[in-house]
Amino acid sequence: MTFDPTKLVNPLLLKIKPYQPGKPIAECQRELGRQEFIKLASNENPLLPSPLLIKQLITTISDLSLYPDSNGFELKNALSAFLKLSVDQIILGNGSEDVLRMVIQAFMWADKQILIPEFAFAAYKILAQGLGVAIKEVPAQQFGMDLEAMLKAITSKTGMIIFANPNNPTGTYVDKQALLSFLEKIPSNILVVCDEAYYEYMTEHDYPQTINLLARFANLFITRTFSKAYGLAGLRIGYGMGNASVIALMNRIRQPFNTNHLAQVAATLALADQARIKQCIQLNECGKQQLTQGLAQLNLSFLPCHGNFVSVEIKMPNVKVFEALLAQGIIIRPLAPYGMEDYFRITIGTSQQNAACLQALETILKKEKVV
Ligand SMILES: *Cc1c(COP(=O)(O)O)cnc(C)c1O
Repeated sequence: MTFDPTKLVNPLLLKIKPYQPGKPIAECQRELGRQEFIKLASNENPLLPSPLLIKQLITTISDLSLYPDSNGFELKNALSAFLKLSVDQIILGNGSEDVLRMVIQAFMWADKQILIPEFAFAAYKILAQGLGVAIKEVPAQQFGMDLEAMLKAITSKTGMIIFANPNNPTGTYVDKQALLSFLEKIPSNILVVCDEAYYEYMTEHDYPQTINLLARFANLFITRTFSKAYGLAGLRIGYGMGNASVIALMNRIRQPFNTNHLAQVAATLALADQARIKQCIQLNECGKQQLTQGLAQLNLSFLPCHGNFVSVEIKMPNVKVFEALLAQGIIIRPLAPYGMEDYFRITIGTSQQNAACLQALETILKKEKVV
């Protein structure tokens, strides 16, 4: 008898389309034999961690023979003081994706369903599928979440609603007023998970301050991350905030050492350095101007730019654009996996990186005579 693991495997797995991450620089170097690449594919922070953070982190490396603090005492206390939440309203994760997995695993079972908007961050579907939880996707309106349609899609099976605000990859966001009236209409037996991975980058005055809503909506759960504005994507650390009883239940299924020691230390240091966050936001605002103006000059359409990325429409085969840019040392993210065949997501980089990306785009557009 031949060994066929697909006959042994949990059938749920056979339906999963694996997540396609941004192409790593080292992989591009191996495959293309070129040294210089600019990665604008994963919404990472274009600035390196501060020299002070690196120096302080190195002093804690000798602790690596010990398990990390399972409870993440220092970081949770720092977050508690910074966010003005009690420590028992916070849970740490190996990236916010780990927090999302925990909240789904803890609160979804049997035939309960999760509602997500069309064009939602791809990880939600993959996490749910892996846990055997049904997902219902609600059509978007001009790429943004259709709140009315989401409300209408609620049934007795709905156990959770997950959306990112702002959404990746479309850049659309739900404003303060709209979010409030949405939350008011959702029954309290449905958990509302608001993924705020780009929170720090949101300078828009009508962007909601959801932490203030936690006291009023016990069914609201928020995730944030150190991967984006805090520039620690490689360490994997994020957190969730919600009702203390929700957090306590999630802790039952949290892996005891889900966040590593270096990540806890680095995140605590990064949180204390708010001047640097301001600097990152400022750099991002300038880059946003530069990139959107440059794209407009190239006659390219793009979706609303909120956060640290912009999704651009280029009416050429997705693979072709990706490869042509790659040949010029620019790594961006094709959005065909989101059903957005004509779109690419570009992370806002430093002014030099943005300029190089615009230059490379101009070159391929001229060559293909699209412009
Ligand atoms: C980048 C991103 C995250 C962050 O994931 P981590 O696991 O914290 O690195 C979460 N949600 C969305 C929508 C993102 O774009």
